[in-house]
Amino acid sequence: MKVQLVSFFDESPRVRRFRFRYDLNPEAFEEAVAAYRQYAGLPATDPVYRPGQYVSLLAEGVFEHARSYSICQWWPHLEFELCIVLNEEGAFTRWLFAQEAGAVLDCTPPLGRFVLEDDSLDTRLVFIATGTGLAPLIPMVEQALKRGHQQVHLYAGHRYSEDELFEKELQNLQAEFPQFEYLATGSREPIRSQQGYVHALYEQHLTPQPIRFYACGWKAMLHECRDRLKQAGFTRRDYRIEAYD
Ligand SMILES: Cc1cc2nc3c(=O)[nH]c(=O)nc-3n(C[C@H](O)[C@H](O)[C@H](O)COP(=O)(O)OP(=O)(O)OC[C@H]3O[C@@H](n4cnc5c(N)ncnc54)[C@H](O)[C@@H]3O)c2cc1C
Repeated sequence: MKVQLVSFFDESPRVRRFRFRYDLNPEAFEEAVAAYRQYAGLPATDPVYRPGQYVSLLAEGVFEHARSYSICQWWPHLEFELCIVLNEEGAFTRWLFAQEAGAVLDCTPPLGRFVLEDDSLDTRLVFIATGTGLAPLIPMVEQALKRGHQQVHLYAGHRYSEDELFEKELQNLQAEFPQFEYLATGSREPIRSQQGYVHALYEQHLTPQPIRFYACGWKAMLHECRDRLKQAGFTRRDYRIEAYD
């Protein structure tokens, strides 16, 4: 399937948000999704998009290998947004950051199983991310709050305060849902007086239980997170992880 780059804006010094649109009408899109799922051996009955999923992008004729990106926003008229960090040594992100509106790429439908579980509404949900690992968590948090989860926490780790992401969306969610707690920490400088790695934030809130954890980002952070949760007595059933590398 083709997608067209509709618009983009800089979210922080190295992170850009890209809005894409599938180049198909809704019926053709549904057919293409069904065909893709049959080809990939995926269940035919799932909704087209579930918060937490990603797409894989391919710049045909430029790179052979597709890169995956979490969807941070989805609109029913087949537009979606990605939040991508520029890797100055990375081939694909350097190419993408040089594109203008109108650029056309190949794209999969939304994919992946990093989605909300059917937990009871009194299960505390703890979302953990570093950097652009926040991208899938934003729509998942929103979905959880709208479902009526009574305690939802989001802990984010960045390097500097200028690296913070989704500030407007998070302020709106905090204003609308008093049961939502959001804290960010900076590893190189404080963010609203929080300094250090993200682990210190969720480790202060490991009771009361039950808790379900969702963590997303680069492997080093996720390994440490898993080790710390295991040491605290949690098992694989308690956490879901999406690794970016
Ligand atoms: C499920 C998922 C979701 C993700 N979501 C996001 C997101 O929301 N935001 C974000 O910023 N990043 C996200 N990523 C990371 C993203 O997919 C890229 O890895 C990242 O943008 C790096 O691209 P680059 O241009 O910096 O590096 P590149 O140099 O283009 O390469 C990236 C990686 O692809 C692999 N690779 C490159 N060429 C080949 C090849 N020919 N054959 C095989 N492998 C190759 C290598 O492992 C390399 O490390 C996600 C990753 C996954 C798996």
